[in-house]
Amino acid sequence: MESLCVIEELIGYETVSRDSNLPLIDFVQNFLYDHGVDSRRVPSADGRKSNLVATVGPEVSGGIVLSGHTDVVPVDGQDWSSDPFALNRRDDRWYGRGSCDMKGFIGIALSLVPQMNALRKPIHFALSYDEEVGCLGAPDMIEVIRDELPEPMGVIVGEPTGMAAVTAHKGIVGLRTTVRGYEAHSSQTHRGVSAVMTAARLVGHLERVADDLAVSTPADNGFEPHATSVHVGVIHGGTALNIISGQCEFTWDIRNIPGDDPQLLIDSFEAFCKREVLPGMRARHEACSIDTEILARCPAFDDSGSSILGLVQSLSGRADSYKVAYTAEAGQYQGAGFPTVLCGPGSIDQAHQPDEYIEASEVQAGERFLRTLLAELSS
Ligand SMILES: [Zn+2]
Repeated sequence: MESLCVIEELIGYETVSRDSNLPLIDFVQNFLYDHGVDSRRVPSADGRKSNLVATVGPEVSGGIVLSGHTDVVPVDGQDWSSDPFALNRRDDRWYGRGSCDMKGFIGIALSLVPQMNALRKPIHFALSYDEEVGCLGAPDMIEVIRDELPEPMGVIVGEPTGMAAVTAHKGIVGLRTTVRGYEAHSSQTHRGVSAVMTAARLVGHLERVADDLAVSTPADNGFEPHATSVHVGVIHGGTALNIISGQCEFTWDIRNIPGDDPQLLIDSFEAFCKREVLPGMRARHEACSIDTEILARCPAFDDSGSSILGLVQSLSGRADSYKVAYTAEAGQYQGAGFPTVLCGPGSIDQAHQPDEYIEASEVQAGERFLRTLLAELSS
């Protein structure tokens, strides 16, 4: 089975996180079934999406979990040179949404199922949904893996690392802050409370918090950027130039290095709102408020002593290892007690971009890596 055929099929399913991934899951389940492999769905609460778990080979301990997320980020507003949901070759690159993040890895792994007939230790597939919106899908599946599968030796999360071993990633908390002010004619600034200007003050505060963290965090810790970061991505507020705005909301994230507790930052932000900002607002209008809700939370990952690091390095033929600033499901696997390493084909530099691609040489490197793993588990 040619891996590019499977990658092409996977990319054809428009599994943007906001949409259902069930057509893709149907395909994978049928594909595995056709090769004699039973799989099991671990669905979302509303049934619109599903994880998929499958074991290839004997039901014994000591296998390897190959983990990948089936969802992709949107292409809205991005300028693509070809259909993002069709695999397209130009030069030595394969273009398509998810080609590197991370349908390339999943496609390569699935394409090797026909060659997994002599395994003495199993390969477990663990395919999740909603990774791109805060790693929401994986926890239920990880529970099933922990409670119901024979204990694996470890987990390889195939995020695009250029086939280097990655032993740490940052965590993330996504938040939404809603400011309610008081509307009045904009000539009467003494009567109203501007939600937009209050939100701007809070955003400025968060920027100072981020700057302080960058200064106070030791720079040579292997992360780039080295410190826990705070970033506001979206802001909406107000209705007209001449109306003091009644409402403004902004969404923001904290991307914490291992060891930094994001809850401390959230608590300190809440305290700033309560002590420094709200009293002035409420002195003018009692109903003013600032509310912050948590949208998603995914733990940091730090497993530099992972018991499968040596295996992954020998499979990839590379002795180096790295830390990355993005967040993946590795922290959740580690939290459930699994030795974990990130390693997969493609570069994170191309992920989430218009004209996302994977180098043909990376597909080959991924094939080599997984073939060597099969040989290892078959001996
Ligand atoms: Zn990814």
